[in-house]
Amino acid sequence: MRKVLVVGAGQSGLQLAVGLRAKGYDVTLMSNRTADEIRTGRVMSTQVMFDTALRHERDLGLDFWTRHAPRIQGLGVSVAGPGGARAVDWLGRLKAYAQSVDQRVKMAGWLDAFVQQGGQLVVHSASVADLDYLSRTYDLVLVAAGKGELVSMFGRDEARSPYAGPQRALAVSYVHGLAPRPEHPGTEAVRCNLVPGVGELFVMPTLTTSGRADILFWEGVPGGPLDVFRGVNDPAEHLTLTLDLMKAFTPWEHARAAKAELTDAGATLAGRYAPAVRNPVGRLPGGGAVLGVADVVVTNDPITGQGANSAAKCAASYLSSILMHGDKPFDEAWMKATFDKFWFTTGKPVTQWTNAMLAPPPAHVLELIGAGGRYQEVADRFANGFDNPADFDAFFYDPQDAADYLAEVRAAEAAGSGSGSVGASGAAAVPGSRSVPGSGAASAPAGGPAAE
Ligand SMILES: Cc1cc2nc3c(=O)[nH]c(=O)nc-3n(C[C@H](O)[C@H](O)[C@H](O)COP(=O)(O)OP(=O)(O)OC[C@H]3O[C@@H](n4cnc5c(N)ncnc54)[C@H](O)[C@@H]3O)c2cc1C
Repeated sequence: MRKVLVVGAGQSGLQLAVGLRAKGYDVTLMSNRTADEIRTGRVMSTQVMFDTALRHERDLGLDFWTRHAPRIQGLGVSVAGPGGARAVDWLGRLKAYAQSVDQRVKMAGWLDAFVQQGGQLVVHSASVADLDYLSRTYDLVLVAAGKGELVSMFGRDEARSPYAGPQRALAVSYVHGLAPRPEHPGTEAVRCNLVPGVGELFVMPTLTTSGRADILFWEGVPGGPLDVFRGVNDPAEHLTLTLDLMKAFTPWEHARAAKAELTDAGATLAGRYAPAVRNPVGRLPGGGAVLGVADVVVTNDPITGQGANSAAKCAASYLSSILMHGDKPFDEAWMKATFDKFWFTTGKPVTQWTNAMLAPPPAHVLELIGAGGRYQEVADRFANGFDNPADFDAFFYDPQDAADYLAEVRAAEAAGSGSGSVGASGAAAVPGSRSVPGSGAASAPAGGPAAE
């Protein structure tokens, strides 16, 4: 029986540990926390996962909370305009629902399931020296320890890492009592509120330790007006700051937060990190090699909500590479090939899109975002790109591709075969959808849509 050590009990490590165990591998999982410590600790993410990633969890029988977590049917974009108005406001429809299950609930539950499955759990914070010693007794060591210290074993890939430092300051609050968006009260949706030059507020439903809740998640441009959470250790103060910033920059979201209160003592999180791609093979002092998984090798800013999705896809891809390799040695060439398979299908498109979203948007991107307010097809395509970021390659990066795509949409609309303009036939397609005042060319974000 092949022996595998998995370091890190997060999205990717647990999926791999459970998947390998189910195929009869002798799996040891090293976690720096027990299931109870995870369950009662601090929130770690906002973890919205889209259909492809959710299917990987389902394939392993790990979809324990599907019936309890809110079903996210849409993804909306609003752009703040002058005086608290919205210059753009639309809701794209997802082809299949997304869900967010608090990682405290999920990882604790999966850890218990792994142990019940006969997996060996070692509660210990692994060091490089530990791995140096342990690697000699395992056929394969997978390092799935997220953004922790073990990343120091994996050299940064400069050519694939354009940002030297953090691009956003992050501040998360889980709350009960948030009222629905009045324009579509029956639709669970992720709301991306873009405040040009300042940052973004994401609002999304989740299932947390105390049931259904909503997450308020500020991403602030470093040094700007949202970058004010450093040193705020009191959760109540963290929520007050969050709400004050909503009142100032996204008053339409603040209007539904009159009764918002934190879900629990661990409901807040603040921090920042630099996006980076690293070499997949980690070198141990004794000469051994270990394979990096998910965030260890591809760390993206959460602005596009892709890290947990990519971790699920990475785990599924690595699992299939391990199974296909049979009894052959897990040498460095195999490790590189295993990473490359993940990189070219998932890591690269996610990194390209996320890094683009961190930069100030060029005119053609503003035009696309504005067009989402006029054409349901554009809003839907943008929303479904969160499940399949490779699709952005066809219309998002290159100004000519964007112009060609919008011309196609306009032609389809004129011929009557489009999926509906928002505010016209789109109102019937999106429950409770409304016409969007001011989302046209004249009031789109600076440099926004050209007249059509
Ligand atoms: C604020 C925020 C919001 C986010 N929102 C989203 C979102 O909406 N959608 C999305 O897809 N992604 C989101 N992400 C990203 C996502 O949470 C991560 O990318 C994802 O969890 C990474 O999975 P992983 O398996 O690589 O690592 P993790 O899930 O981070 O797991 C790593 C585990 O290893 C453990 N560990 C660390 N060091 C050691 C050690 N030395 N020994 C043993 N164990 C160790 C850690 O404690 C942890 O349990 C968000 C991230 C943040 C910070």
